[in-house]
Amino acid sequence: MPQPVVVMKFGGSSLATTDRVRLVAERIAGRKRDGCNVVAVVSAQGDVTDELLERLRALAPNPPAREVDMLLATGEQQSAALIAAALCARGVDAVSLTGWQAGITTDGNHRKARIHRVSPHVVRSFLDSGRVAVVAGFQGISGERDITTLGRGGSDLTAVALAESLGGACEIYSDVAGVFTADPRIVEDARLLPEIRYDEMLELAALGAQVLQGRAVEYGWQHGVEIRALSTFDDSPGTLVREGSPMERLQSVTGVAIDRKVSRVLCESVPDLPGAAAAIFDGLAEAGVNVDVIVQSPSREGRTDIGFTVSDDEADTALEITRSAMVRLGAQGATLDPNVAKVSAVGAGMQSRPGVASRAFRAIADAGVNIIAISTSEIKISCLVRRDQAEASARALHAAFDLAMQPSLSD
Ligand code: ASP
Ligand code: MG
Repeated sequence: MPQPVVVMKFGGSSLATTDRVRLVAERIAGRKRDGCNVVAVVSAQGDVTDELLERLRALAPNPPAREVDMLLATGEQQSAALIAAALCARGVDAVSLTGWQAGITTDGNHRKARIHRVSPHVVRSFLDSGRVAVVAGFQGISGERDITTLGRGGSDLTAVALAESLGGACEIYSDVAGVFTADPRIVEDARLLPEIRYDEMLELAALGAQVLQGRAVEYGWQHGVEIRALSTFDDSPGTLVREGSPMERLQSVTGVAIDRKVSRVLCESVPDLPGAAAAIFDGLAEAGVNVDVIVQSPSREGRTDIGFTVSDDEADTALEITRSAMVRLGAQGATLDPNVAKVSAVGAGMQSRPGVASRAFRAIADAGVNIIAISTSEIKISCLVRRDQAEASARALHAAFDLAMQPSLSD
């Protein structure tokens, strides 16, 4: 019988020091001894990616994206060589591979390339000869034979894509134990979720949960790869991300997320005419700015206010674009408020249950917090609040939906 394949991905903080690299090598070796065919996927060590970016920006404030990718890809290559060598030193036959050696081809969209194809023959042949393949994450090669990277956190995507092409299991190791009902640093009684659905995980990742890269979850969902998120530093089973099952009817809300890195743009006294909103949001869309929590106030004397949120790193761009739209529209102007945060309740179970929104709003009100704006999707309710009230709001939501407690059939 062929041995099962497991793809084990290790994040930057799990590789930050020489001791940690040893520990990771030991974990991989253990898995190999257990009789698995192991593919390890590694991130750059610690803050190496950010440091490389800083060095580059010191020389070129706007470096060509091609050169960014060329440079950043080296971080993961260092990790791969270190892990492979550490394995060999333990008597485990291992070989490191770049993304392109591992057969990962992408489009030419530097810094956030999409995977076109994974040709796993090379990895497969190393596995067949009894070796561990250690693949540098986060990178591929374009049709023009340029090195590309897959977006920040993209080693997760490398792991999911390799697992899919090899028909293996996918395990993503980091310094957290898995996916929690809320950030345990903020909500004390947050609980580790044994399982979560792809759609819920995707919402949480988009809302700033750092455990898994959103694009990796999306890829897993599209290709039916179950993803296990677990800790490098203990043996707990972590959280399995997978297709939905009737189980989650048990709860309306699965988790609570806080995103502090949002800012609010307020457009004041906009003429209430057809096409006014389009004039604002077309420009933002063209610039690739993601917009959320949009609220238009009722019109007074033919004028209306329109507010929306953007992520902090896109705030300046968004303000500039909005201001020029205001001039064209003859509106009063646009202002930026960075002191806001988005607190969200996420759960596939809310689709089939009425009253979830009112329970969420009641909980936030009872915490003495004023909601500035609201946005919802089928499986998410987001409230915009003042930034210094975000944590209290998250705790209130977590308590209101009893998330500290294991759900039971009688719920
Ligand atoms: N090193 C890259 C980053 O910091 C990719 C990764 O960690 O997955 O974004
Ligand atoms: Mg990461």
